[in-house]
Amino acid sequence: GRAWHLVSRPHGTPVPENFALREEPVRAPGDGEVLVRNTHLSVDPYMRGRMNDHKSYVPPFALDEPMDGAALGEVVASEAEGLAPGDLVTHNLGWRDYATVPARQVAPLPRDTPRPSAYLGVLGMPGFTAWVGLRKIADIREGDAVFVSGAAGAVGSTAGQLARLMGAARVVGSAGSPAKVELLTSEYGFDAAFDYREAPVGEQLPVAAPDGIDIYFDNVGGDHLEAAITAMRTHGRIVLCGMIAQYNATEPPPGPNNLGLMVGKRIRAQGMIVTDHQASLPEFHREVAPWVDSGELRYRETFVDGLENTPEALLGVLRGDNTGKMVVRL
Ligand code: NDP
Repeated sequence: GRAWHLVSRPHGTPVPENFALREEPVRAPGDGEVLVRNTHLSVDPYMRGRMNDHKSYVPPFALDEPMDGAALGEVVASEAEGLAPGDLVTHNLGWRDYATVPARQVAPLPRDTPRPSAYLGVLGMPGFTAWVGLRKIADIREGDAVFVSGAAGAVGSTAGQLARLMGAARVVGSAGSPAKVELLTSEYGFDAAFDYREAPVGEQLPVAAPDGIDIYFDNVGGDHLEAAITAMRTHGRIVLCGMIAQYNATEPPPGPNNLGLMVGKRIRAQGMIVTDHQASLPEFHREVAPWVDSGELRYRETFVDGLENTPEALLGVLRGDNTGKMVVRL
């Protein structure tokens, strides 16, 4: 088998030389384990943080060891009860072609699902993140006006559509290209959308949301967050989900210059980490899977082919090459 190793830590934007694809022996499954042939690997923005050597909610990638992350694959050998060759499972030993995994660390997909790779996206961690942010962190209510940044991505496209399905009165989004902005309004039902590269967010958001916003679902940070605070109504809620605008920063980015507004507006801003909410996963699937099946909740995927292109796919996510969930297809 082959697995990607992190061989050096990036300063700023990662480069291909930070990664190396190396031969790895494939270990036969021991008692209670399965051998999985990975068919799809997830690359996610949080992996950029794991390339740095600092303490965080998830440990850094070790140098010269196989990297990991979400993956989808087919069981090819099993020493575990209830799992048989041919079963499709998700697990966390991605960045490689074959993985030997304890059965308790795999999640079987529903039998005969027509959309296996969706379990890395809209029905997987990113979709769950959108749902947790709205339901558990923002306490979304009927009639709310919601602003989502990174809105053409995996989390953002789900968050915008879920907000509508959960009763929001107005949903607006931002993304980084004209084609993505068009997708938000034409396919995902956003009421308004804008390209943050075209003009300052602080100019475009008040046009898109002239009556203000009740919820800001923040995937980006920086000037998006500052503009959202200004646009917020009284008792607004901010979901601090991610700050991708600064993941490659080499200097501490400037903070929002308008935090004082949060006092009078009684704004509540709360950080979230999706893995804290595992207990709610069944509730998420019960509520959201029917919307995916009915087509009320749409999703896109951007596929990059070949294990050898996995680092390039991660760099692509950080650049915005993806529309919807970025997935490596092996
Ligand atoms: P996406 O599918 O949204 O891909 C990342 C997107 O970020 C790119 O497509 C790009 O889109 C956008 N982007 C890149 N650089 C910038 C920038 N400087 N300013 C604005 N947008 C930028 O990834 P995910 O859906 O997986 O993740 C979205 C966010 O959610 C990330 O911040 C991530 O860290 C966070 N997250 C947090 C979790 C948690 O538990 N807190 C769990 C999962 C994700 P564009 O072309 O529009 O610029």
